[in-house]
Amino acid sequence: MDAKEWKEKVLYSPKNGYDRITEARRRDMEDYCKGYKAYLDAGKTERECVAEAIRQAKEQGFQPYERGMALAPGDKVYLSNRGKMLLLAVIGRKSLAEGTRITAAHIDSPRLDLKPNPLYEDSELAYLKTHYYGGIRKYQWVTIPLELHGVVALADGTVKTVAIGAGDEPKLVVNDLLPHLGSEQGKKTLNDGIAGEQLNLLVGSEPLEGEESERVKLAVMKRLYEKYGFTEEDFISAELEAVPAQNAVDIGLDASMIGAYGHDDRVCGYAALKALFDLDRTPDHTAVCVLADKEEIGSVGVSGMQTAAFDTFMADLCEGQEVRVRQCLENSFCLSADVSAAYDPNFADVYEKRNSARLNYGVGLCKYTGSRGKGGASDASAELVAYARRIFDGNGVIWQMAELGKVDAGGGGTVAAYMANRNIDTLDAGVPVLAMHAPFEVVSKLDCYMTYRAMMAVYEN
Ligand code: MN
Ligand code: MN
Repeated sequence: MDAKEWKEKVLYSPKNGYDRITEARRRDMEDYCKGYKAYLDAGKTERECVAEAIRQAKEQGFQPYERGMALAPGDKVYLSNRGKMLLLAVIGRKSLAEGTRITAAHIDSPRLDLKPNPLYEDSELAYLKTHYYGGIRKYQWVTIPLELHGVVALADGTVKTVAIGAGDEPKLVVNDLLPHLGSEQGKKTLNDGIAGEQLNLLVGSEPLEGEESERVKLAVMKRLYEKYGFTEEDFISAELEAVPAQNAVDIGLDASMIGAYGHDDRVCGYAALKALFDLDRTPDHTAVCVLADKEEIGSVGVSGMQTAAFDTFMADLCEGQEVRVRQCLENSFCLSADVSAAYDPNFADVYEKRNSARLNYGVGLCKYTGSRGKGGASDASAELVAYARRIFDGNGVIWQMAELGKVDAGGGGTVAAYMANRNIDTLDAGVPVLAMHAPFEVVSKLDCYMTYRAMMAVYEN
């Protein structure tokens, strides 16, 4: 063999996805991305993502799961965990004793949550105080239009759904300092330039007619009461989230990318969901899709991936087949579907080019996450990564390896460790993202679509 033949035989040379994708797949990719953008626009919070997923699941013939329900191969069920986490399953032809194929993504995204006592007036302007949720760069959340979505639970048990600023409604904003007076602020580090306690939403300036004090605050509260039927005290039992007032848009002159709030991790959540919907026959192994909450703050709580709600759901399914859940889990495979950082040439010094995911190279497989020597990572086995290569290559999935930044440059985690702790073989994979956790993140359409194809390959193999 000559050098060229040797090169082809023994060297690894990944190619850009556009040099590998077929024409038919490209058309399918555009359709898929239209559906994804619509999903993002309908789901600005974890609750809205669950509601929209359920709406679509019902259209696809999924039934609400009830404990003890008799299930046959091909049956499709879903279980909403408190409206904030969603578990879906398509029952396979094989016994649950032979394991399941799980995809686990998260649908919570970084944002500004209202504090329990948020509303105040200062200098005849009304504001709402926030406590940020997840890892945000605070300076990115000022001077952009925001909406406020969520629920207010009244003491009598009534729950009011709130979407302030949706559609053509007026928006909210957190202000920044003008450059003319910003020289002292400008000397601070990026992390300190905007303090957490400065992330206050401007919500009104017109006073209510009369002689009372704090008439601007009063006018705001009057409007909220008239529109939604809650009072200031009811903020105490509310979950209201300020999110960017921006729908998903195409990016680039070639429209090859999508810019939006919440790609992390709805881009994988939608891929996992849509692939489950699009299964064209009953899978061999039961296919399970998990859309979890609270990943951005450690996967904790009743709706995070560490919750027993997942174990209970799996145990209930297993009991229906008189299978021990532990046996089911030890034979299961989970794709922890979460985004990774895409290589950004504008910030080259924090990436290690040979091991970073690149835009348009397909779904990014991540053997390990974590930080400072893989701390907190589940670190998938060589055998498991080989399994993923096999099923992805065998099903025309364009994929690449992904590592989040240089060694010791930082790091991050996913739900993978919590699935692996349950004795489930787990591998991380997902869409590479530019400007992750920003109010406006960017992904490539090809990578979104290939992540969907990857989810399909997981369910079908
Ligand atoms: Mn994520
Ligand atoms: Mn994240």
